Amino acid sequence: MDLNTIVEVKRPSSADEINRWRDGYAWLGGGTWLFSEPQVKTDTLIDLASLGWPALRASAAGLDIAATCTIAELERFKTPADWKAGPLLRECCRALLASFKIWNAATVGGNVCMSLPASPMVSLTVALEAVFTLWPRGATPREVHAVDFVTGNHQNVLRHGELLRNIHVPAEALAKTFAFRRASLTHLGRSAVLLIGTRSPKTGAVLLTVTAATAHPVQLRFERVPSADELRRALDTAIPDDLYFDDVHGSPPYRRHLTYYFGEQIRQEIGR
Ligand SMILES: Cc1cc2nc3c(=O)[nH]c(=O)nc-3n(C[C@H](O)[C@H](O)[C@H](O)COP(=O)(O)OP(=O)(O)OC[C@H]3O[C@@H](n4cnc5c(N)ncnc54)[C@H](O)[C@@H]3O)c2cc1C
Repeated sequence: MDLNTIVEVKRPSSADEINRWRDGYAWLGGGTWLFSEPQVKTDTLIDLASLGWPALRASAAGLDIAATCTIAELERFKTPADWKAGPLLRECCRALLASFKIWNAATVGGNVCMSLPASPMVSLTVALEAVFTLWPRGATPREVHAVDFVTGNHQNVLRHGELLRNIHVPAEALAKTFAFRRASLTHLGRSAVLLIGTRSPKTGAVLLTVTAATAHPVQLRFERVPSADELRRALDTAIPDDLYFDDVHGSPPYRRHLTYYFGEQIRQEIGR
């Protein structure tokens, strides 16, 4: 839709050009959410595409994803064979209610910064223990673990004017085996529940990441594959009933049921 409150679109060649932030400014990623509803408090868009950041960089240390990398670019990325969790990138890129247009324009950073329970780039980066580099205005960059970034539905730790610059996924996490489960009430719809389990080939340690079912991501750690009982008790403790998200895509009891159901399936698959 046209945003009739916008009076200026800035296209900086460096983020430092935006050194003074004021109400009314908004960073523009792919614009798929910004242009999907009125933005009455926004008068200026700052287009991140003009910064020209390389989308993806693989190295021995892992994968660096620029915030401006599109979800389609990430989906097409061919991961090295020893990154056993590589196929998870594709699974998560396909886990959003996305028309062809949205998929090709939406950025990984925009999806993370939307911080919806059903943001699949949050599910991916939390499960793969990513670290985000944030660029505040007029202060030194800081790093935040993906698991600590989203604090609630459409809420995160970004400060006024702060920019998500980079997402680093460590090679060690990419070398893990994984199991993925997702449910949506409609075919190709928004996720109601999205769970990812990973297991370290070195230590056998297991991480279970619960997203979409809850208002913010919840991650459980086990030194080895837990028993069914241990898993159930860990979920009971980590997720109080009022943390299950409630919207048209699923009621809290439905989301709770599927979290335990998928959690058990993942436990069995990852323990094989
Ligand atoms: C039909 C439809 C279906 C959708 N389905 C889903 C879905 O299933 N799951 C889901 O998660 N979302 C969904 N969305 C919402 C949205 O399109 C996606 O979350 C998308 O990935 C947002 O990315 P973008 O690059 O287009 O973000 P934009 O629209 O450009 O920006 C989104 C927000 O993030 C801010 N922002 C963007 N980049 C940065 C950055 N690098 N640093 C700081 N702030 C930044 C913007 O200022 C804005 O507030 C849907 C939207 C539509 C219209």
